[in-house]
Amino acid sequence: MAKPMTQETSRAVGAVVLLGPPGAGKGTQAKRIMERYGIPQVSTGDLLRENVAQGTDLGIAAKAVMARGELVSDDLVCNMVRERLLLPDCKRGYILDGFPRTAAQAGWLDALLERELFDNSRPTRAWPIVIQLEVDYNQLLLRITGRRSCPTCGRIYNVHFQPPRFDEICDEAHGTKLVARNDDRLEVIQPRLTAFQEQTRPVAEYYRRTGRLISVNGDRPVDEVTDQIFRILEDHHA
Ligand code: AMP
Repeated sequence: MAKPMTQETSRAVGAVVLLGPPGAGKGTQAKRIMERYGIPQVSTGDLLRENVAQGTDLGIAAKAVMARGELVSDDLVCNMVRERLLLPDCKRGYILDGFPRTAAQAGWLDALLERELFDNSRPTRAWPIVIQLEVDYNQLLLRITGRRSCPTCGRIYNVHFQPPRFDEICDEAHGTKLVARNDDRLEVIQPRLTAFQEQTRPVAEYYRRTGRLISVNGDRPVDEVTDQIFRILEDHHA
């Protein structure tokens, strides 16, 4: 397999939706797409948390709902997303993170982009590119439960796939014991994964129905996954 195409490009890619469970590698791949295409990642979770921190009307309305782990209403989230997508840095495209979370949000995004299809001032006139990272369930559990980081230097390890030279000790920050994230424990991760599957199934179904769901095998080595995603993005506008 060739090395991934890493150099930057200024082409317009439009809306990119990455779907996949926690641990599927969405964060890593999103970062690479951002670097190559110079487009921002728009995370609804981050935007909502900013609103809560700033005490805006939206933040006040969303705070209790978020604390219960429930979904903020489609209306509130879609309005927030519309405002964000109108900012100039989204003109050539953006990666949506945590959105759409419901079939209604996916339909709303289609309607928004459909209006853009007829707006000649926008270079990104196309449907969203929806990429689903598929990872074997047991592989996912190993990835998440094996995840460790060094509290001193921040380096990330996986005790199953990229272990340190000495058991649970950082290679770089001498003698520092590695730590696991609290929500990466098996008893927490299983319900998290189940909840996630339940929540996002309607969104994946929506895109499957409309023939726009592109599945990528997220079990492949990370560079190969990147390579495949870049090809999908290049082909989409070819
Ligand atoms: P996240 O950081 O993506 O896990 O989002 C944190 C919380 O923000 C979620 O548990 C929801 O309460 C809320 N949230 C984020 N994105 C959405 C969305 N697209 N629709 C509704 N609620 C959302």
